[in-house]
Amino acid sequence: MPFKNNTSDVKEFAIDQRPNLIGMGRKEMELALMEIGEPRYRASQLFQWVYNRGVTDFNEMTNMTKSLRSKLGNRFKISRPIISRNLESIDGTHKWLIKLSDGNEIETVHIPEDDRGTLCVSSQIGCTLNCKFCHTGTQRLVRNLSPMEIVEQIMVARDHLSEWPTADKPSIYERKLSNIVMMGMGEPLYNYDNVADALKIIMDGEGIAISRRRITLSTAGVVPLIRKCGEELGVGLAVSLHAVRDELRNEIVPINRKYPLAELLSACREYPGVRNSRRITFEYVMLKNINDSLADARELVRLISGIPAKVNLIPFNPWPGSPYERSNNQTIESFAEIVRNAGYPSPVRTPRGEDIMAACGQLKSDSEREKKTNSKYI
Ligand code: SAH
Repeated sequence: MPFKNNTSDVKEFAIDQRPNLIGMGRKEMELALMEIGEPRYRASQLFQWVYNRGVTDFNEMTNMTKSLRSKLGNRFKISRPIISRNLESIDGTHKWLIKLSDGNEIETVHIPEDDRGTLCVSSQIGCTLNCKFCHTGTQRLVRNLSPMEIVEQIMVARDHLSEWPTADKPSIYERKLSNIVMMGMGEPLYNYDNVADALKIIMDGEGIAISRRRITLSTAGVVPLIRKCGEELGVGLAVSLHAVRDELRNEIVPINRKYPLAELLSACREYPGVRNSRRITFEYVMLKNINDSLADARELVRLISGIPAKVNLIPFNPWPGSPYERSNNQTIESFAEIVRNAGYPSPVRTPRGEDIMAACGQLKSDSEREKKTNSKYI
């Protein structure tokens, strides 16, 4: 197993009922300590061991007495989920298929780049949005992920990237996991409370310590929660726009029927903290002959005018049976030029991890396929 586990051999055969400390915030850790008759100030130490040092064995908590360590170990665990598959792309992208305790599976993707390493984190199992071009959208929602299951994705990535500080390497200067995008499976704003709890743990400077400036939450446009997200979490906002007319957006991003473009864009205009140094990212998937005309590009510029923004053009990533094709490179370039000439940075996202089905919109497919093949054994 690639990670350490503090359960003894004997316990591994029984179901370990101890609550997991992963997913608990400071408050919950205080309560956990009070429950075993310990002062709440210890919560800060516990929080650091769990989230900053990444220990999974209470015996490594050297500033705690032996009796406290065993009290903690009797009552709680610090565990990691099972990795059912660990795939590496030829471009260095990693995809971990994580098996949750109820048998469901989620995917987490690590994308290394020259100046950063980004982890693409899932917020739900499946999705309810049914965006026409997205593979995850063809799979029904199974359930929301808990704060524990969201935070565990980061813990798993740090384990595998060997990125926990040690006594001889106390801080991390060049992090392989420096940024987080809530762009995996699911719609994070439809699981707002759990996502918020998880992000607060992740952003805490004494723990995983990834600042809100390095976190981006992507939404297809759950308008009523956009402001709250900015006020309460202050993370960067990405909006899956994909179409500039309600008629088309109703069809390819059906949440538009509930929250049409005008409402979505005014929520973007009012996003707390938005300014030039903190732009909103508009994601725009390039679908051949569907949304990629020069008239579309001009309408896009008109729609977002006045919003400090950047437009990420995502060449469509096909999946088996997908009803669309990727726009050709020349079309994408001409589209980008119109957007750039209007003063908006408009990078074309290089597909990463396509060979392991880890690119945008391809998640969950692997595990689903697997299930179909094995279904007769379940
Ligand atoms: N539900 C959220 C989080 C998902 S983010 C949201 O919609 O924003 C994943 C991003 O990849 C979204 O912008 C999504 O629209 C985009 N995407 C989905 N399928 C894709 C595909 N096949 N090719 C390229 N991008 C895709």
